[in-house]
Amino acid sequence: MKNLIIANWKCNPLTLNEALDIFESAKKQITEKGLKNTEAVICPPFQYIEFLKSDLNALMLGGQDCYSQEKGAFTGEVSALMLKNSGCQYVIIGHSERRKYQKESDELINEKINAALKAGLKPVLCIDQVSQLEIDLKDVSYKEVAVAYEPLWAIGTGKACGIPEALDMNQKIKEVLGKDAIVLYGGSVKSDNARGYIEEAGYNGLLVGGASLVPDEFFKILEGVDLI
Ligand code: PEP
Repeated sequence: MKNLIIANWKCNPLTLNEALDIFESAKKQITEKGLKNTEAVICPPFQYIEFLKSDLNALMLGGQDCYSQEKGAFTGEVSALMLKNSGCQYVIIGHSERRKYQKESDELINEKINAALKAGLKPVLCIDQVSQLEIDLKDVSYKEVAVAYEPLWAIGTGKACGIPEALDMNQKIKEVLGKDAIVLYGGSVKSDNARGYIEEAGYNGLLVGGASLVPDEFFKILEGVDLI
């Protein structure tokens, strides 16, 4: 299985032109230098998705969230099927910022995961505790999702998780889900610490926030993990 690197742009950048610049730069570097063992998924804000096109197998698109219903009277929501129809293959669900600011419950997250699967998207479920898996993945096969372990104190702080602790959580998640589960690490990943999570802590990939908005730094992460 290839390393899976999910880029979460969050609520950035402010203009479509900037979004195009960042995306095209990633596309150019991947095209010129190539990736053998790594797949990148860029998750921009919804309104940029239709404008970002990639025909590279190593560069895909994802949403940062989706609604639990397919369509209808749900003002402001974007459904999983809409994301799929706009070219997405993945969707992040249950990010800690949504759990905190939008007060998303584990039950709603489970509904969103089911909606994503129904639409043909691969959900990337974010958790910071193993206990969240029980409700978030109720009646869902772990083989259909990727799980990202993101310690809350490491997200956007510059304080990345140490390798022994990251290794321990990876093992705990795989004990619950199965040893072939796809588990990613997220939290202050940069080019100088990215490899360790895969090489030493045994993760199957990474969820990258801030560093994914800086094209050269993001490609350094991809290039570094591709050598593993
Ligand atoms: C994230 O967006 O989930 C994240 C891990 O952000 P950062 O890499 O900036 O810590």
